[in-house]
Amino acid sequence: MKMELSRHYTLQSARALKGIDEEHQCARLHGHTFQVRVSVLGEVKMPEGWVVDFAEMDQIWEETIKVKLDHVLLNDVPGLENPTTELLTKWIFEHYQVPGTTTVAVDVNETGYSRVRYTG
Ligand SMILES: [Zn+2]
Repeated sequence: MKMELSRHYTLQSARALKGIDEEHQCARLHGHTFQVRVSVLGEVKMPEGWVVDFAEMDQIWEETIKVKLDHVLLNDVPGLENPTTELLTKWIFEHYQVPGTTTVAVDVNETGYSRVRYTG
């Protein structure tokens, strides 16, 4: 039996978008509190009765995503030279891997009104 697990996290990061009119407000240095949801799919294992311990998801988030993206200038991160929310979402999708599961979706809200979803 396969099931999908999701976990929510927050990233506080700065960015200045490239490739747009320099008068655009997003071209100026600014910050966001990104709301991130990562979703993984895996087999429910016995005797635990779970796919993976949520604490393990948290540990992997801290070690592979938060340490690189939280309280940083995203433009300085390799692969995020132009850190639009679309490219940030894809970056997280490609770097978040929990053993024994498949990452099936990453959702990133940059505000309460805007969300990007990537499913690979
Ligand atoms: Zn922005």
